[in-house]
Amino acid sequence: MPQSTSSDGVAAESGTFESWGRYPKYPAHIIPLHWQSDFPANIAGLHNGALPVGMGRSYGDVCLLQDGNLLLTTGMNRLLAFDPATGILTAESGITLAQILDFAVPRGFFLPVTPGTKYVTLGGAIANDIHGKNHELAGSFGNHVPSFELVRSDGTRRLCSPTENPDWFAATIGGMGLTGLITWAQLRLKPIVSRLIDYEGIQFHGIDEFLALKDQYKHVEYTVSWVDCVSTGKNFARGIFMAGDHTLDPGPLPPTPEPKLSLPFDLPGFLLNSTTVSMFNTAFFHKQRKPHVITKQDYEPFFYPLDKILHWNRGYGKNGLLQFQYAIPWQHAKEGTIAILHEIAKSGLASFLAVLKTFGDVPSLGLMSFPLPGIMFALDFPIKADISFPLMQRLGDMTREFGGRLYSAKDACMTPEQFQAFYPNWQQFARYRDPAFTSSFWERVTENRLDTVTL
Ligand SMILES: Cc1cc2nc3c(=O)[nH]c(=O)nc-3n(C[C@H](O)[C@H](O)[C@H](O)COP(=O)(O)OP(=O)(O)OC[C@H]3O[C@@H](n4cnc5c(N)ncnc54)[C@H](O)[C@@H]3O)c2cc1C
Repeated sequence: MPQSTSSDGVAAESGTFESWGRYPKYPAHIIPLHWQSDFPANIAGLHNGALPVGMGRSYGDVCLLQDGNLLLTTGMNRLLAFDPATGILTAESGITLAQILDFAVPRGFFLPVTPGTKYVTLGGAIANDIHGKNHELAGSFGNHVPSFELVRSDGTRRLCSPTENPDWFAATIGGMGLTGLITWAQLRLKPIVSRLIDYEGIQFHGIDEFLALKDQYKHVEYTVSWVDCVSTGKNFARGIFMAGDHTLDPGPLPPTPEPKLSLPFDLPGFLLNSTTVSMFNTAFFHKQRKPHVITKQDYEPFFYPLDKILHWNRGYGKNGLLQFQYAIPWQHAKEGTIAILHEIAKSGLASFLAVLKTFGDVPSLGLMSFPLPGIMFALDFPIKADISFPLMQRLGDMTREFGGRLYSAKDACMTPEQFQAFYPNWQQFARYRDPAFTSSFWERVTENRLDTVTL
């Protein structure tokens, strides 16, 4: 990324900050923050607004700001305090969950909620109020954040917790970086006695079997399923239900070695087609040779199978990928999921990664949080301009008809009408937005105009 100095004399880098989906791509000014005092001191006088960003593991444009200033927080990554009696860790917002695990696991502690990659920052996890495989029992990330500091572009600082500035707390959890910069946060870790997970994998055929397994395993902390969304007929919605608990048998707690595999270049897009995807899905389904497997597994492959290959998103070619992720409430969850899976299979648009799980009824604390009690489904599509975008529009409309919503952290396609129906609190939330902060996502879904914001 080329170094440059902006006309305002602020040390910055110009270039493209890519989100995980690598679509859309926008030029931006990247301003690395190293110290909490760097903000707002280092940004006065810049134009076109600002947005804090972490590891760019969001898929669409929630972490992008076209021609604006991205406040890169990953240099602000210090651990500040840890109390083993309560499990409460305090750290700067740019620390990654991988760094927290490196500190916590050898001491017998684990994250209270984790997404499918550990390469996200603490600030990013709060700002998208991320969820994990234990949503049924634990709720989302914000439920485990006792407090954080929020700094606005005018320099005002607020300590936010469920009891102190609770309205700012609720707006910032799931607030997509728009309410200000989270400088540091607390996170309540939980004790573990081993790296191992007591794991069960069970093949299922169809949504009824999936729902029966979900009821049968409701006492297990972590559950998630892989589902084949390409096959039709008797193989329609076949999948593998995966359930796991931290084992109670004490074992060694060494730190995780660094991953060695990385995809160093973009694969040509033509490698992804309905034949290769169908072969992959069939091989994955039969990888588990028996219908029911019980074993112990290290937490890394259980929680982060995709982290084994760094930059696996390059496998979708330089055009990138789109993710479609919905939550549909129980009332319409089953019919909605079946209808959407049929629509996807009909489209013939290849997808390797389809994840199906359920959300529980622990209320999220954020005004704009994604989870709701019901079924959650996520899958990636390669970008084929004439097919992918109309399909995303159709699937978004179907989600709306079934009373569900799409996940802003994964989105690059929602229309303003869809967003405003999915998130009826959006106008209330808008009152908490920092006037100097915006994102390409926010501009798109609220039909704001980008050109007027000055810091
Ligand atoms: C392989 C993979 C698997 C995933 N699995 C899951 C999953 O299971 N569940 C789930 O919920 N998500 C999942 N995600 C999405 C990911 O967890 C979220 O998008 C997460 O928020 C990314 O964090 P980040 O540090 O990369 O933040 P970025 O993507 O850089 O930014 C995300 C948002 O946080 C804001 N932000 C960042 N830092 C700050 C700060 N210090 N102060 C204020 N705002 C800030 C940004 O403005 C932006 O709006 C997955 C992503 C990948 C690539």
